[in-house]
Amino acid sequence: VTGGTIVDGTGARSFRADVGIADGEIRAIGDLKGATAVSEISAIGNVVCPGFIDIHTHSELGILVSPTAENRVLQGITTEVVGNCGQSPAPLTDASSRLVEHLYGPYGPWVDGLGWEWRSYAEFRRRLEISRPSVNLVPLVGHSTLRAAVMGMRRNPATSRERTKLVALLREAMSDGCFGLSTGLVDPPGAYADTDEIIHLAKALVEFGGLYATHVRGERNSLIRAVAEALEIGERSGAPVQISHLKCSGRANWGRVRNAASMIEWARERGQDVSFDVYPYTAGSAPLSQIVPAWAHAGAPADLMRRLRMGPSRLQLKLEIRAQGRDWDQTLIAWTPDGPAKETQGRTVAEVGSQRGVDPIDALFWVLEATDARAMMIHFIMSEDDVRFVMRHELAIFGSDGWVLPNAGTRDEGMPHPRCSGTYPRILGHYVRDEGVLTLEDAVHKATLRPAEKLRLSRKGRVAQGADADLVVFDPSTVRDGATYSDPFAPPVGISHVIVAGQVAVEDAKYTGARAGRVLFNA
Ligand SMILES: [Zn+2]
Repeated sequence: VTGGTIVDGTGARSFRADVGIADGEIRAIGDLKGATAVSEISAIGNVVCPGFIDIHTHSELGILVSPTAENRVLQGITTEVVGNCGQSPAPLTDASSRLVEHLYGPYGPWVDGLGWEWRSYAEFRRRLEISRPSVNLVPLVGHSTLRAAVMGMRRNPATSRERTKLVALLREAMSDGCFGLSTGLVDPPGAYADTDEIIHLAKALVEFGGLYATHVRGERNSLIRAVAEALEIGERSGAPVQISHLKCSGRANWGRVRNAASMIEWARERGQDVSFDVYPYTAGSAPLSQIVPAWAHAGAPADLMRRLRMGPSRLQLKLEIRAQGRDWDQTLIAWTPDGPAKETQGRTVAEVGSQRGVDPIDALFWVLEATDARAMMIHFIMSEDDVRFVMRHELAIFGSDGWVLPNAGTRDEGMPHPRCSGTYPRILGHYVRDEGVLTLEDAVHKATLRPAEKLRLSRKGRVAQGADADLVVFDPSTVRDGATYSDPFAPPVGISHVIVAGQVAVEDAKYTGARAGRVLFNA
């Protein structure tokens, strides 16, 4: 790769150099004028940096359906951390496989037709490997999935016997190469755990060098308490902590993310290994059913439907949801399965309410009933100021919270969040070049070496001799995201080449068909 400006991932100032690659490895950096090569990529006028390591994704099922992961690799992602927010497809028991499949329901058209025949994480890993992904994968095991295997959707903290079983399953998944445990403490069944249960599990991570990645117990008015819990879990277990998509949701709570960041800085000063990730958008995306308080999800899926319908529980739920103070005209239905609610796709909950002549919470309940709680939402919940503050913060790592989309037209994928296809070019174009929110070197650092260090991927995240040849070539003057809320599939602009394990996966901004990704093993 000749003539480019190297932004090497360390955060250091860029410099001009050629990069020589052989056998999937970076072999030489400098003036390589005299050297010969099988093929040459001219990077004159372009930046050459390490491949982006997306520390927070939900690609674990999509990659089985669309292993080419074009919407991911086209934006320069070469490694994805999968199994976040408490959800992983393994380990399963015969009984829990149906439940876990149901919990994945809002992730759209990826779930159907997968078979779900794997049980252990080793068997699922094999499925990932056989799919021959175009990007490297870093697997996490999900706490909700462990809980589904041991105690289904029972709404109570694990007993000591159940804890023992949870730990045994966690240890098996870690031995199968997982890099850590994720929790999603707003979504059941993970939400039914108490702090002690999670500390117990996190302690088991330490001997594996595993990471504790957490979607904390509340991102609205309980954010401070929720971050305090994450820090306590890290402190008492000794496990390194990654707080997922740090944000403060709901207009009334905006600005509090600074308080949360102060708490995290303070924990760092006390010696704790804790950081957080952020995606460059003011909207989030989650299952629509996440709005319904966790207690109402206990038991079978039919129990949730009964509680939505029955007088006393319906009334109670409406009171609690109203108290959340949500903006229904900012809550968009991004995808639904086929059925009576399909026409709500692309509309806000407020619009659905006025169309049906009912209040928005009644409309919400109707959509949940009509979709068997499978709908996905996009909700505009953050302030631009908060997003910029978090992106700039020295403890931030970039992660898209996105996922592999099916190749255009192959499945009905609705209107997914543009973060799936636009995260990294949006950071480099909009936030670095156009808005000057952070320097190019800093942005690349937070997208490469920072996540590599957090995950202990010693061969990744930098342009250095001996490092894996995962590289991105982009034009800093034109790079930008194409995906928007109304056109979420549009590819980015200005990213000409992406190299995964020494193989050219993107050439002249087109996917080549290369599938050189590996499922990484936590050694
Ligand atoms: Zn999450």
